[in-house]
Amino acid sequence: MKTSIPPPDAYQDMREALRDLCGRFDSAYWQKVDAERGYPEAFVEALTQAGWLAAMVPADYGGSGLGLAEASVVMEEINFSGGNAGACHGQMYNMGTLLRHGSSAQKQRYLPGIAAGKLRPRSRCVNHETNEVFFDNLEVPVENLIGDEGMGFRYILDGLNAERTLIAAECIGDACWFVDKARRYASERVVFDRPIGKNQGVQFPIASAYIETEAANLMRFKACALFDAGKPCGGETNMAKYLAGKASWEAANVCPQTHGGFGFAHEYDVERKFRETRLYQVAPISTDLIYSYVAEHLLGLPRSF
Ligand SMILES: Cc1cc2nc3c(=O)[nH]c(=O)nc-3n(C[C@H](O)[C@H](O)[C@H](O)COP(=O)(O)OP(=O)(O)OC[C@H]3O[C@@H](n4cnc5c(N)ncnc54)[C@H](O)[C@@H]3O)c2cc1C
Repeated sequence: MKTSIPPPDAYQDMREALRDLCGRFDSAYWQKVDAERGYPEAFVEALTQAGWLAAMVPADYGGSGLGLAEASVVMEEINFSGGNAGACHGQMYNMGTLLRHGSSAQKQRYLPGIAAGKLRPRSRCVNHETNEVFFDNLEVPVENLIGDEGMGFRYILDGLNAERTLIAAECIGDACWFVDKARRYASERVVFDRPIGKNQGVQFPIASAYIETEAANLMRFKACALFDAGKPCGGETNMAKYLAGKASWEAANVCPQTHGGFGFAHEYDVERKFRETRLYQVAPISTDLIYSYVAEHLLGLPRSF
């Protein structure tokens, strides 16, 4: 099929390189990880060795010194390839607080190890495991203090903007995967002597999902541009996550519908990706709490909780 989903953009060279790498981990690989409730060790290692997960670490510390926009393209391409970036997005942004507020000694101590993948947070998104953690009378040595005392929560909020935007990009990757999968199947599957995609009842929902995805993509890149320029971006990152999550969920529903019974056959990957993208309605922030943020902080309405 000639049409390109997603359409070419300014990051095409990066996308080609990522497609090359991600293409080495096919659907059988991700099916096995999913069936075993495992961690995609070989995939994350390959991505780390190729330097992609150190995109946001400055070159002086062994990274590539790229922005959030490029980092988000990495996440998007993983999900577009049929993989699950939830396994490794923490590695992409977790060093943000250290980067912005750490001393040079702290950066020198940790960032090269993070860039090389030796200090790797193993994300839990693959196993969908959530635990409550308690800290009681924990003393932190003063040399481990990052930035100013008492500012920790504020620093973490910066990191959450990066996380939300990266996850918006993962949603875009998922949405493009679902739209591409659906349009291909709709063109190939013949019922009553015509491809099912010839019917408006089949093609319009796919077109609708694609429109939503493209609109969400604009807000995702707006959020990236503000973040990379060091400007306030809380509203845009939340709205990007909301729109992209909505688009991926719409596309996720269209895809099995288009596939009929085969949408539930595990070898088609549709039901696996459906489950994976559903998470984004809840984590890292639920849709309800985005409404709440927008109502209070962008519209000036009284806080609802
Ligand atoms: C796989 C996975 C990975 C995760 N990873 C991380 C992580 O790395 N770091 C981290 O900090 N957290 C993580 N989370 C937690 C995640 O951010 C929370 O699950 C999410 O923010 C929802 O919070 P909760 O689970 O406490 O739900 P609750 O707060 O109990 O909410 C339950 C429901 O009630 C709704 N609700 C709650 N309050 C309101 C309100 N005031 N108005 C309207 N609706 C409301 C919610 O939207 C939701 O639908 C992860 C969760 C999952 C499932």
